[in-house]
Amino acid sequence: MPQKVISIRPEARSAAAKAPRYDDGALADTLGRGMRDLRISVTDRCNFRCVYCMPREVFDADYKFLPHAAILSFEEIARLARAFVGLGVKKIRLTGGEPLLRKGLPDLVAMLVPLGVDLTLTTNGSTLVKHAQALKDAGLDRLTVSLDSLDEATFRAMNDADFPVAKVLDGIAAAADAGFSQVKINMVVKRGVNDHQIVEAARHWRDSGHILRFIEYMDVGSTNGWRMDDVIPSAEVVRRIGEAFPLAPVEANYGGEVAERWRYKDGAGEIGVISSVTQAFCRDCNRMRLSTEGSLYTCLFAQAGHDLKSLLRGGASDDDIRDQVAAVWRARSDRYSEIRTAATPGAKKVEMSYIGG
Ligand code: SAM
Ligand code: SF4
Ligand code: SF4
Repeated sequence: MPQKVISIRPEARSAAAKAPRYDDGALADTLGRGMRDLRISVTDRCNFRCVYCMPREVFDADYKFLPHAAILSFEEIARLARAFVGLGVKKIRLTGGEPLLRKGLPDLVAMLVPLGVDLTLTTNGSTLVKHAQALKDAGLDRLTVSLDSLDEATFRAMNDADFPVAKVLDGIAAAADAGFSQVKINMVVKRGVNDHQIVEAARHWRDSGHILRFIEYMDVGSTNGWRMDDVIPSAEVVRRIGEAFPLAPVEANYGGEVAERWRYKDGAGEIGVISSVTQAFCRDCNRMRLSTEGSLYTCLFAQAGHDLKSLLRGGASDDDIRDQVAAVWRARSDRYSEIRTAATPGAKKVEMSYIGG
């Protein structure tokens, strides 16, 4: 699906060129936020059709995914990533679509390792048994696996694919065997579909060494038919789990951490809740997203991206690219979740599978 992309203005280029160094805190957007976290979508394709992300009625057999020539190569991704690290990025997450569908992904991991950032990957886990060891060997630091239910019928109701839960569990076990000691397990909660599985999931992952994180269902993209009524607020998730297994709040690991942490009082580990709808965290948002075809999005709910691929393929120097990204960041004023109303989900926004979750 064609996405709206903005060319980067020449005047932004000359303004940015005056600030060649970006030490800690030196680069800030219009709300004073630094750039720390880059999410890179390595493919817009996926073998699942999660109802909240790629509904099958839209992402059907006729859907036009990006052609190979439009997609950034690993070399192009690594070159851009280097520019972002020069601007203060400390963490890179590979995502998609389903990132493990991209052939040779461990090679990209190995190319990013020398940047010295915290390198992580989010996957639906469907092919993790096959790839976990190669990812670890390539130098991936951490893994997040999405798993919305342990119950087969509920899992299928969420991902609209005929895929056994056991295979994802095997993938998580393979990841642990490969040396990913603490996997994060993402569970998007949609009212009436999988919320009856909240406590079951908590029971399963308690004491496992992995961390279960509940994500409020969001109005990303324009195709998932989001309604506020379908959102289970994190506070309710915490209440329901707390009634079964008493919980206590835990301090954030660092400023800008999106998950609010809670620990089991009996010492069985912790959970996280990500409350993007009911408790917006735009104030500290230091994330940006690079789409599969090389456009930069400064917000998950953006309506347009900034075209970096043309710069890459048009002969721009590394300094040029870095300075233009800096100019985009300086102009950033996004705070969608803080200003969301019942009407805003109607706006035409970019799909999450395209810019990366
Ligand atoms: N395919 C991989 C996966 O599912 O883990 C990576 C990409 S996916 C877009 C990244 C994350 O976004 C997943 O954890 C997914 O559950 C979450 N996500 C997708 N659509 C969402 C929505 N509408 N609301 C909340 N989370 C969503
Ligand atoms: Fe695919 Fe991940 Fe989106 Fe589900 S959430 S459809 S697994 S990209
Ligand atoms: Fe960041 Fe946009 Fe999400 Fe706010 S709505 S936290 S600015 S990505």
